[in-house]
Amino acid sequence: DVRHGPILYLEDVSVSFDGFKAINDLNLTIDDGELRCIIGPNGAGKTTMMDIITGKTRPDTGQVWFGSRHDLLTLNEPQIASLGIGRKFQKPTVFEALSVFENLELAMAADKRILPTLTARLTGEIRDRIEEVLATIGLTELRYGPAGILSHGQKQWLEIGMLLMQRPRLLLVDEPVAGMTEQEMERTAELLTGLAGKGKQSVVIVEHDMGFVRSIARTVTVLHQGSVLAEGSMDKVSSDPRVVEVYLGA
Ligand code: ADP
Repeated sequence: DVRHGPILYLEDVSVSFDGFKAINDLNLTIDDGELRCIIGPNGAGKTTMMDIITGKTRPDTGQVWFGSRHDLLTLNEPQIASLGIGRKFQKPTVFEALSVFENLELAMAADKRILPTLTARLTGEIRDRIEEVLATIGLTELRYGPAGILSHGQKQWLEIGMLLMQRPRLLLVDEPVAGMTEQEMERTAELLTGLAGKGKQSVVIVEHDMGFVRSIARTVTVLHQGSVLAEGSMDKVSSDPRVVEVYLGA
């Protein structure tokens, strides 16, 4: 596996809420094009870590870099998003009354109020991009139907597609397979592993489903009490007695 240098870099990051250290000297490096899974018990700090990367939460101490040039702690949430960091929350938030195609169209518009006038001005380039993303997420056949009739899994893929419209460099994905059927999980594994790679995206996934993590991740990071307890292949971390004690054995 060729390494391409880090795209995301957290060094000695800490944040407290009312004196409680939710993130405690966290160090994390994500390589360009890497697919990384983050696991850990409830309260380990996974959500807070994502909030710090996207600028929603400011750490008390430490450094957060995107590539080698962007000090994320000097930027606000929209500025960080515009660098190409996309986040997908657990619950899909697609526009049910709009078609799949229109949802992707809307994702291109920074100002959501311009939608009614967008179709008329849709350039060939944007159309091509929408078709490309539709193929990637496997929803080409359903593109003119309302998003509201999609299955739960298909809505999740559509929302990933909406993030892809902006050609992100880093995707943060929160529990993508929660509530999915076995078949949808397999399709999601293909989708996410296909997205990661050099010249494509880096993908960081927070996930509780260990079978899914095992099926996709080359590297797994185990968070516990706000810092990294273990990191490495799934085989390595799952045989680590400390990981078994705090997480897998529970
Ligand atoms: P995880 O996502 O791994 O379950 P979280 O990042 O949500 O963990 O939470 C880490 C710890 O920080 C938890 O104990 C949680 O209660 C606490 N926490 C997170 N956000 C806040 C907040 N805004 N105010 C107070 N406590 C918080």
